[in-house]
Amino acid sequence: MSLIIGLTGGIGSGKTSAAKFFAALGIDVVDTDAIARELTQSRGAAIADIRHAFTEEFITADGALKREEMRSLVFSDSDARHTLEAILHPLIRVEVVRRIAHCCAPYAMIVVPLLLETGTYHELIRRILVVDCSEHDQIVRATTRTGLDERAIRAIMSAQLSRKERLQQADDVIINDADMAHLERQVNALHQKYLALANKS
Ligand code: ATP
Repeated sequence: MSLIIGLTGGIGSGKTSAAKFFAALGIDVVDTDAIARELTQSRGAAIADIRHAFTEEFITADGALKREEMRSLVFSDSDARHTLEAILHPLIRVEVVRRIAHCCAPYAMIVVPLLLETGTYHELIRRILVVDCSEHDQIVRATTRTGLDERAIRAIMSAQLSRKERLQQADDVIINDADMAHLERQVNALHQKYLALANKS
């Protein structure tokens, strides 16, 4: 796979929605959040290490991660967050590399919410695609999707790069400031650009 795009954006910006449109065009999309959920579902590959590090208190009766409890813990305790990340990140990376190796579309995309904050996956990706929208839209969309309140969403946003910082690092940008059809049109245009780039390489 010679052309791999890294897709990122702030919370609620529309990463997942954009990625779905790319996937519908036949592109192989590897979503690191989805992998994290699989690793922490019942009998997921990360559960044994999480149980060992955090005790049974954070594991449901059927062997999945208690997501709400863990979210609250890592929000207030950075040591706990680092411990969880040290368990999950290497496992996610192994799975990303495995999936990329199996990709057979003209190009592939890795969705990484904190791509620019963590500096990860840069050796794999050739271009950075940022999904951008106003902070107001981010808050409305993220509160609707997650059920968290505005304060919690703002706290997450403040731990992420600012829009300006993110846009400075982008090779390509999707402005997700209107309806889904507007988003889809931008995905279609970028798809043509990426197909041309993939053909050249
Ligand atoms: P998160 O960082 O929380 O995972 P995300 O960046 O992946 O979010 P999405 O899940 O794609 O963003 O979008 C967040 C919510 O906003 C979803 O409910 C989605 O349906 C909605 N949404 C995204 N883009 C638009 C749009 N252009 N018009 C209307 N709703 C939208």
